[in-house]
Amino acid sequence: MQSDQDAAHDLGEKPAIDLPPPAAPQAASEAPEPALEPAPEPALEPSIDELLAECERSSAGGRHLDGVAQAEAVLARAGATLLQQAQARGILALHRLRLGDYEASVHQGLLALDFLNGTDDLLRQSKVHCTLTLAYSDTGLYEPALRHALAALETARGSGSALAEFWALSRSSMVHEGMGEAERGLELGRQALALARTIDDPEASFVGLNNLGDSLLELAQAQKAQNAQAQNSQPQNSQAQNAQMSLNQALLLVREAVAVAHAQRHNFYESIARTNLVSILIELGEHEEAREQAGRSRRLAKAHGFRSLEENNDAQLAEVARAEGDIDGATAMMNAQLLVAALDDDPALHIKLQQALFEMHKECGRFEQALEHVEILHALILKRTTDTAGIQSQMLINTLGIEQARHDAERSQLDAARLRIRADDLDVQANTDPLTRLPNRRALDRRLPRLMGRSRDTRQSICVAMIDMDHFKRVNDEHGHATGDQVLNAMAGLLRAVTRDSDMAVRVGGEEFLLVFADTSLECAEQACERLLSSVRGHHWEALAPGLACTVSVGLAELAPGETVAGWLARADAALYQAKDSGRDQLVTGAVLSAV
Ligand code: GH3
Ligand code: MG
Ligand code: MG
Repeated sequence: MQSDQDAAHDLGEKPAIDLPPPAAPQAASEAPEPALEPAPEPALEPSIDELLAECERSSAGGRHLDGVAQAEAVLARAGATLLQQAQARGILALHRLRLGDYEASVHQGLLALDFLNGTDDLLRQSKVHCTLTLAYSDTGLYEPALRHALAALETARGSGSALAEFWALSRSSMVHEGMGEAERGLELGRQALALARTIDDPEASFVGLNNLGDSLLELAQAQKAQNAQAQNSQPQNSQAQNAQMSLNQALLLVREAVAVAHAQRHNFYESIARTNLVSILIELGEHEEAREQAGRSRRLAKAHGFRSLEENNDAQLAEVARAEGDIDGATAMMNAQLLVAALDDDPALHIKLQQALFEMHKECGRFEQALEHVEILHALILKRTTDTAGIQSQMLINTLGIEQARHDAERSQLDAARLRIRADDLDVQANTDPLTRLPNRRALDRRLPRLMGRSRDTRQSICVAMIDMDHFKRVNDEHGHATGDQVLNAMAGLLRAVTRDSDMAVRVGGEEFLLVFADTSLECAEQACERLLSSVRGHHWEALAPGLACTVSVGLAELAPGETVAGWLARADAALYQAKDSGRDQLVTGAVLSAV
């Protein structure tokens, strides 16, 4: 009987109770041990974070119905952030698991991860992975269980929390055992315990000890069964020795687990460990101590209302009688238990009792009674298989549904991103001259008011230069349109070279360009224009066509206070015409207007 603690252990939580895997005889849903401290009175309108904290405390105290209500209250709050919703879903997954609602547990856990995976909160991710590991492995879905166990381990290690790593190792161990890989399960259980011994966390110590002890007990039982089967042909002494060694190790571990739980005054854990101790003692043939321990555990369970454990202890007392050869006594005890115990809640115990009764009747030659029990046994096993298959398929459908929704969401995000990129692309296209890749007239209209406004605010001057290539028609005529295009491209390069990042070079149309010099005095702008004139004049145009030579004319104007864009550009244009009239290949600066 393993003790499964939820993964929210880093918060120093007290144990909650796990439901048993359907396949193993374990304690069923116990009434959880009441928390040592009573929960604080809830405020009239608790904040979302208070509700979440309360929900965590409910998990620690085993109050899973309360926990469900608190988590759902968070999810119903209009103001809950996505992180708070994910937190609520993470804890809700755990509460649902403890209540045996595996399907809802998986549903909430996967939704929580959907959000958490996008954050760097590895610790919380690890906890949710641990919960999902349990939910899947408890329903026999080992493939997803293993995936989440691995993810739990990876995120735990990434988070640097040794405690989280312990839980992930412990869960991984359970999954491998469930899959029938006993050796791997043991190895992981040993690693978990070794880690637990380095952490000052009594709960981790208890779980590490108890679960490894339980694993060794199961291994010994399997080894004994193999030995019994082989005995017809040839006795396997080594198997029997192995079983004995496993049992001895299990005994030491579980005795230590009892001591840890006792020191913690954790009655539920102590009761679990003592129950395991009894099973080991029965296997070892230590009937006297087995009976004494079963009695102790039963009293503890009864005193604290752990009904399922109490019933398991009753069954153990009957087993001791059987092991001592008191078949009639054992049969009577088990029959009595069938009448009083609430076995619908604990199908594993019911199966165990029917199995034992069948075997004992058969041994004594009471075949008719044996047959009665074997029929019930088969019906029980069939029901359990059907129930499990139903839960499994529902959980897989659920998982697939959530994955499908995630894919759909990812696709629509991609579509939106594609549309955005396309829109950006169209915007760039609409504002760029396709030949020279310079901004076009439209881009100028859009950006110029902003540049002007900024220079007004900062009281810096701003200048604009109109540039027109000289006799460009002749370039086309003499060297062809393609060369003309190459010239325009080369011009764009020369313009870029004289401008700074804060300036703007524009192709306004044909062989006309414009430069905006932001935060630049007229004097500096004049110097830049002169540099441009000489760089055009001195450019190696012959490289494009033999005999080719190009110049430009430039009209410059500084923005006058209160001047409109149109007025400003018109002055630059007028200056340009003046430059053309004066013989081209030169700069003319427009007259500075006096303040309006
Ligand atoms: P000016 O010195 O007076 O400016 O004389 P110009 O020949 O440069 O002026 P005009 O306006 O008469 O001619 C401009 C020429 O530019 C006419 C047109 O064919 C050419 N042009 C306009 N856009 C392009 C273009 O994209 N590529 C090429 N190759 N030529 C173009
Ligand atoms: Mg021209
Ligand atoms: Mg022109």
